[in-house]
Amino acid sequence: TEACLERIQATEPTVDALLSLQAEQALETAAALDRQGPDPAKALWGVPMAVKDALCTKGVPTTCASKILENFTPFYDATSVERLKAHGAVILGKANMDEFAMGSSTENSAFKPTRNPWNPFKVPGGSSGGSGATVAARQCFAALGTDTGGSIRLPASFCGVTGIKPTYGRVSRYGLVAYGSSLDQIGPLARTPLDCAIVLQAMAGHDPKDSTCAPRPVPDFAAETKARKDLAGLRIGMPEEYWGEGLTPEVRKACDDAMDAARSLGATLVPVKLPHTRYAIATYYIVAMAEASSNLARFDGVRYGYRHPGAKDLKDLYELSRSHGFGEEVQRRIVLGTYVLSAGYYDAYYRKAAQVRRLIRQDFLDAFAHCDVIAGPTSPFTAFGLGEKTGDPLQMYLADIFTISLNLSGLPGLSLPVGLGEDSALPVGLQLFGKAWEEGTILGAANALY
Ligand code: GLN
Repeated sequence: TEACLERIQATEPTVDALLSLQAEQALETAAALDRQGPDPAKALWGVPMAVKDALCTKGVPTTCASKILENFTPFYDATSVERLKAHGAVILGKANMDEFAMGSSTENSAFKPTRNPWNPFKVPGGSSGGSGATVAARQCFAALGTDTGGSIRLPASFCGVTGIKPTYGRVSRYGLVAYGSSLDQIGPLARTPLDCAIVLQAMAGHDPKDSTCAPRPVPDFAAETKARKDLAGLRIGMPEEYWGEGLTPEVRKACDDAMDAARSLGATLVPVKLPHTRYAIATYYIVAMAEASSNLARFDGVRYGYRHPGAKDLKDLYELSRSHGFGEEVQRRIVLGTYVLSAGYYDAYYRKAAQVRRLIRQDFLDAFAHCDVIAGPTSPFTAFGLGEKTGDPLQMYLADIFTISLNLSGLPGLSLPVGLGEDSALPVGLQLFGKAWEEGTILGAANALY
């Protein structure tokens, strides 16, 4: 813990990964663990970690990187955080993010952008950019992120670390500030697939406080991950939509090399099709914005969070608090989400998107009839420049092209570092998608490739 705090002191001025640091609390927790002595039943005994600021932490501010929650301090821990603590984790601080997890670069944080530890002029990806950067900068050994449309996998890819989005329902969302409730999942970012497996295992499993959290037994992910030393007998699906045009040459090269390595480890590569991929961005942004507009209705300046001091009446209070408390991207999404849900437009937009979502999921189920895992690049490009896409929301949305279908389908997927791009010298990530509840299969395959 002391070494991590030193590392934070040294790197934070350039990286800006954290929104708050709980150094004293962390040292106290670590000292208490020292007094008790190592406990083999606690898989994360003494492991310093960070938590995305979208997850409630007892007695510690939880802002979602938004002015509207600037002064919000929860009186309870999210289930995921509570379980990490029960396993002996030491929580160092809260990681920066795009406001309410809306974004792909962490530039939508109301407080500050985070910089990519590999190159301070580049973004770390988003929305869990602080979580990716804190691990990549070696400030801690793992961080929790959330993934609604790629927010764990994109920063993992841009920062050169491993990150997994579990199957929808694997990890309790209790205590996570909701963005798109049918898409959100919590997952770890860490250096290696094995580290991710250990953290995931510690927090996964049924929670009566989240009705969408599945009452399924949690397999021994760490054992499954370690057991896989080669890829003998594994059929890896290669979707043509993910390996076609649009990849930068350096991303293609690094991912091709990784697939050559997979073949030499014994895997068979099978061509598969995910034909509805071209509708994924449109479908995702309708579903996510609709859910966001509904979830964010609770921030009204009355119950908690920012309240504008100058309101004349109740309507004025809502209007002033929300227009001063929410940033530009969040307001854009509330407006668009309200529009697609409104009477007269619901059938044309939201209902249609829900139908296409079903087709996107069916693509995966059909593809998995021919393979065990599916592989593709996490992003068509490596980390882009700070400010490069902030002027054009659509360009920013397009960064999610390879990650969002998975959330619409509810399936698990991870991003694994597969080297540096030849032109940019920045990390390239490869995604592995799995069948529902088969996180162990993709973690094992990633371990063999790592
Ligand atoms: N970039 C996507 C969005 O802005 C995904 C974000 C996420 O996964 N939280 O909605």
